[in-house]
Amino acid sequence: MSPASPERRRQLALRRRLLAWYHGNRRDLPWRHSRDPYAIWISESMLQQTRVETVIPYYQRFLARFPDVQTLADAPLDDVLAEWTGLGYYSRARNLHAAARCLIERHGGEVPDDPEALRALPGVGRYTAGAVASIAFDRPEAVVDGNVTRVLARLYGLRENAKSPAMIRRLWELAGELARGPEPGALNQALMELGATLCTPRAPQCPRCPLRGRCVARRDGDPEALPVKTRRAARTPLAAVAGWIPRRGRVLAVKRPSAGLLGGLWDLPGGELVDGESPPQALQRCLLEGVGLRVDSLEPLGEVQQAFTHRDLTLQVFRCGSPQGRVRLRGFEAHRWLAPRSFLRLPQGRATRAALELATPGGAES
Ligand code: SF4
Repeated sequence: MSPASPERRRQLALRRRLLAWYHGNRRDLPWRHSRDPYAIWISESMLQQTRVETVIPYYQRFLARFPDVQTLADAPLDDVLAEWTGLGYYSRARNLHAAARCLIERHGGEVPDDPEALRALPGVGRYTAGAVASIAFDRPEAVVDGNVTRVLARLYGLRENAKSPAMIRRLWELAGELARGPEPGALNQALMELGATLCTPRAPQCPRCPLRGRCVARRDGDPEALPVKTRRAARTPLAAVAGWIPRRGRVLAVKRPSAGLLGGLWDLPGGELVDGESPPQALQRCLLEGVGLRVDSLEPLGEVQQAFTHRDLTLQVFRCGSPQGRVRLRGFEAHRWLAPRSFLRLPQGRATRAALELATPGGAES
């Protein structure tokens, strides 16, 4: 066997430090008690764009309700979306459901260990494939997420824009070299854990870091300057209205089309304001256009705010009196007249849930 190059020896030393630190310091998280590839896949999907503390109860409920690929594939999509309600980025839930059905068809219900086969599943990209293959199957596959990007950019002093193709390539190369060796899954988790707990965007705790002696950004005294990012465009405001339309103790619910933001979720009917409209005018127009109903009285119930990735939503909610006409849908997939508590059991976004609470303060759960 030829001796390792100086660069490889350096990588192996970094690996040893990272693994020792991880085994002594890792947080006790529910998915770390499992080697079940299905459970690891669910956790990795949930953790994208979402904080660990938020994910934990969703992960536990989701696995209790859908404990394996078969149960998930057999479930109606509405049930899967309902378990996801409040977690956001609902395309992840739709993709998990579609991918579970693919696993039944193509892989006999087993999660494959091959990253290429994983990447052929709906919603599984390079990151998720690498995470599942390395953590569940000990395959030497890299992962690069926001935490890994930050740690590697600082460790190696990489000063290129983190979104540039050359930098992305370099990060995957470096992560791939580090993954090579014993315990690739633990190594990947160590990098992510370090980024989440010590090598944080602000005020990294370098004196406690296992890589401090080899870290270029620490040596240069400016770890917070890395990774170099383009400024995110400011979120634009989005003004919208929603109507609570009661009829004989029930309320009108509409289902959004399955593609797009909040796709497949249930909502109160309404829509966006266009220039010059007052909120009541906008709601009367949206109800006529979207569900074919005329309403003559509108009582303001309050306002809901929600920040999306690119938009800041302000939703004004009204109770609508005396709807006239028959429901004719345009831009929605389905409608139902529901008791408020039944509405709450359907999959819905956070803003819709807040709007329901405004309409039935303390009563919608009853
Ligand atoms: S020494 Fe500091 S900047 Fe470097 S990897 Fe560790 S925490 Fe991050």
